[in-house]
Amino acid sequence: MSCRSDLSCRAGCGACCIAPSIASPLPGMPAGKPAGMPCAQLLPDMRCAVFGSPDRPAFCGGLKPSAEMCGDSREAALHWLTRLEILTAPQAGPGRPGPLA
Ligand code: SF4
Ligand code: SF4
Repeated sequence: MSCRSDLSCRAGCGACCIAPSIASPLPGMPAGKPAGMPCAQLLPDMRCAVFGSPDRPAFCGGLKPSAEMCGDSREAALHWLTRLEILTAPQAGPGRPGPLA
């Protein structure tokens, strides 16, 4: 994710802090993060404001950069992650993406 210091995470991307839903509460989002909404902790430069903090959801640390997910652009990553969100939704269907975690 953009918050990682991992060099394989593309600077300024932030796709995996926007496309997925997060079921657990996080600062600024006590009910979790809906799919497709930028995380309340996503900074303007697409880094994470709570990186390294126990307030950062476990989900975030579990989502590792990969060629498949990250693709060759931010748009490609958003598309891939949105599709995954829909495919893994408990009640999958158009307009009803569900939580990944
Ligand atoms: S999709 Fe990949 S490059 Fe983009 S923020 Fe997530 S891990 Fe980083
Ligand atoms: S808490 Fe940080 S890593 Fe997790 S979605 Fe929000 S900005 Fe991204």
